[in-house]
Amino acid sequence: MAGRTRPTAGFVFLAAIFSVFPAFAASKKTKVPDNPWPALTSPAPGAAEAIGGYGAGCLRGGEKVAAEDPSYQVMRPQRLRDFAHPDLVAFLRNLAARCKKEGLEPFLLGDIGQARGGPTSSFHASHQIGLDADIWYWRPEKGKRFTKEERETVGAPNMVVPYFEKPSEYWKPEMLETLRLASDPPEVERIFVDPIIKQEACKKYPGAAWLRRLRPLWGHDNHFHVRLSCPKASPQCRGAKEPVPEGDGCGEELASWFTPASKAEAKRRALAPYKPRMPTLPDACKPLLKD
Ligand SMILES: [Zn+2]
Repeated sequence: MAGRTRPTAGFVFLAAIFSVFPAFAASKKTKVPDNPWPALTSPAPGAAEAIGGYGAGCLRGGEKVAAEDPSYQVMRPQRLRDFAHPDLVAFLRNLAARCKKEGLEPFLLGDIGQARGGPTSSFHASHQIGLDADIWYWRPEKGKRFTKEERETVGAPNMVVPYFEKPSEYWKPEMLETLRLASDPPEVERIFVDPIIKQEACKKYPGAAWLRRLRPLWGHDNHFHVRLSCPKASPQCRGAKEPVPEGDGCGEELASWFTPASKAEAKRRALAPYKPRMPTLPDACKPLLKD
């Protein structure tokens, strides 16, 4: 999750306030459920295991993702949402190396997961078992890297004119290339993108096998969201409920996102009040609250 509009000073200030005190974003009547997971700041000891589902689970043996790499920077490091299952750490390392090889500008990493997974303080809908990572399209100007302070405060501008209209003034065609490289490793289960971004990918790379993995979804207008499949050594990991459909999804399926009803739904979701919800985690997560 990240800022959604032009990154002005006022916006940056608000983004910083909401990131530190997410309940500020809610109305006074919103009740924020008790949630012990954000306070656990060290990985649970033991062999790496993703337990439960992407939206209701936890992580044993998580690894902290290195904050700086020549090919990426972690944003909002103070939130401590920079832990992942070792498979995701390896994926990110590999993606960074491939981006560097192709001469792409360093990418910015948003939310990954908490030290022991579980729901975040903002009740981000998934990212709970160390297998999800948000990657921003936005990046610093060529040759520049964000300072420590900027990494805590700069917001990600919206790459799409709402709601599902066209790429925004911030979009640059080369932003597709990091997405392309992220999409083809076999461990990637799917990648959530805004339908407009999928349309851009379909236009530029017609027939590419990796397009199939790009799944349009609400709320992904400033980042794409990589999701890995359950690792082999995680018998309690519950993977995707539905497999990714056959075909590249560039035809009728994509067109269905651009109907008036779909655009209205996108608006409704964007403006809907914040309603934090505590998911029911598997019993196997309970010991991770104490270890
Ligand atoms: Zn995400």
